[in-house]
Amino acid sequence: MRTPLIAGNWKMNKTVEQARALVAEMLPGLQAVPSVERVLCPPFTALMPISAMLVGTEIGLGAQNMHWEAQGAFTGEISPGMVKEFCQYVILGHSERRTYFGETDQTVNKKVHAALANQLIPIVCVGETLEENEAGRTAEVVARQVCDGLKDVSKDQAAKLVIAYEPVWAIGTGRAASGEVANRVLAEIIRPALAGLFDTPTAQKIRILYGGSVTAANAQEFFGQPEIDGALVGGASLKPAEFVNIAIAAA
Ligand code: PEP
Repeated sequence: MRTPLIAGNWKMNKTVEQARALVAEMLPGLQAVPSVERVLCPPFTALMPISAMLVGTEIGLGAQNMHWEAQGAFTGEISPGMVKEFCQYVILGHSERRTYFGETDQTVNKKVHAALANQLIPIVCVGETLEENEAGRTAEVVARQVCDGLKDVSKDQAAKLVIAYEPVWAIGTGRAASGEVANRVLAEIIRPALAGLFDTPTAQKIRILYGGSVTAANAQEFFGQPEIDGALVGGASLKPAEFVNIAIAAA
């Protein structure tokens, strides 16, 4: 059995003061949700203050990105060791990083190795663009992102990984995939790719989330699907009641 996981990707939103207010509002409701792993991913500047608020709770903290090197002349970057000071998780290869910041399957792979070497749980994002979807290239693109992004990861380490299937056309658009379509991508593309990379028992242990315009209203459609183990939530994670209700739907 895979434990459901709900992660909120705040993207580039919230000052420290705003972040504290948001967490204070959602924390009681979020803490009351049983048997769902719950993770908040605020911007870097809010990681330290929010980590202090989460002490003594079972709510995890994640960064939205990181560099793969331990230290050095990489102006503007954050190292795995710095992330690890506050976080247990790190989102890697989000489509916005791939689209706007030149992230590739190869840089994602370096980051995955760095995260695992630092005992961070990587939430590795994959997903096809609208153009790729319409050209019938979803299987090819998503399988390549999984295989190249996870290249040379050991079987032991793989079981800790989390994959987020986020069709780019569904992110922030209000146009979510249907639960059935998303489940099919997980069942027919992602889990078989994981089984090919590792083996079937390991592939069965890896949690795969859906992401893309998840709301409290449509969450059940996704969580009712056998392959979908939770959600990576963007916009709705900034609305306390909405995010709590999405976590409740996953329980
Ligand atoms: C995301 O940023 O990972 C995401 C899924 O965004 P949204 O829920 O807003 O579509």
